Amino acid sequence: MKSFQFPVGQMPAIGLGTWLMEDGSATAAVKSALYSGYRHIDCAPIYMNEKDVGQAFSEVFQEGSISREDVWITSKLWCNRHRRDLVEGALKETLADLQLEYLDLYMIHWPVAFKHDIHRPESGTDLLSLEEMPLIDTWGAMEECLKSGLCKNIGVCNFSQKKLQLLLDQGTVKPAADQVECHPFFPQDDLREFCQNTGIQLVAYSPLGSPARPERMIGENDPSLFEQDQVKQLATSKGITVGQVLLAWAISRGTVAIPKSANPERQKENLAAGSIELSADEFKLVDEIAIRHRFVHGEFWVMEDGPYTLANLWDE
Ligand code: NDP
Repeated sequence: MKSFQFPVGQMPAIGLGTWLMEDGSATAAVKSALYSGYRHIDCAPIYMNEKDVGQAFSEVFQEGSISREDVWITSKLWCNRHRRDLVEGALKETLADLQLEYLDLYMIHWPVAFKHDIHRPESGTDLLSLEEMPLIDTWGAMEECLKSGLCKNIGVCNFSQKKLQLLLDQGTVKPAADQVECHPFFPQDDLREFCQNTGIQLVAYSPLGSPARPERMIGENDPSLFEQDQVKQLATSKGITVGQVLLAWAISRGTVAIPKSANPERQKENLAAGSIELSADEFKLVDEIAIRHRFVHGEFWVMEDGPYTLANLWDE
């Protein structure tokens, strides 16, 4: 049987995001993605669809033309399971839901903790500060998961350079990846450079600007990447789509991108962007977009009497 592992750095450059596939669409979406060539699927228990995604894995791997080892599968630790003694159990639940023996990458979903018996915090007192629940302790439990073989790599999401540095200084395993929002409105130039210098893979989430994000995350004057003249003109002149311009830009700067699509045609379109090259001038056109905007702003963690502020969340 063909069997290979993906060394870090060989995480397939385009993966399928699975957030907002809560309506039972995840099984069909993951199956169509795998059959059209995706070899990287990004999951999380908080997306409330890991059983559906697991159904897709089970059906596809049983059918036999694609094997488990061919696919890079990521999932994440939710914020109510940061306590050291809860991490391995959370990973085992995810593995059971996904019908897998191991993950390729297990990530801390947010540098935010809350009480273990709640799913989403409703008030500031549900949240736990990073002094009460230090990230390095959670990271220690992630390192244990690595040793036990339940995952091949460990990483983080939404970590600033300062928080990554804390793990580099105090942990024993370097994070394999930091998954953060990243697109032409929020290019993460400094973090990208830091990650390149330290050998941490930057994974770009919401690479298309998360156009279907929930209502509570939409601001009145939010810009849209699909409405940017530079991007639209480049798409027309190259005979490709706006989505492909955005993804080709992401890949040409060494980031991995995980666009979500439940639509088989758009899935194929997004995957094909992996082999589209931008010339230096074309890259510059996108790179020079001056608008700055974060779509996943993290305000949902800022609550009265809670320990988190946007300043201490992003260290900005
Ligand atoms: P994306 O930027 O990937 O945008 C997804 C939306 O764009 C969907 O509505 C999709 O609709 C549409 N779309 C997809 N492809 C195209 C295309 N080629 N042309 C036009 N529209 C398109 O948003 P997400 O916020 O979902 O980010 C992607 C993934 O990143 C998530 O699914 C999740 O896995 C991860 N993520 C991680 C976070 C974290 O905290 N770690 C936070 C946010 C996201 P349709 O399905 O109909 O094609």
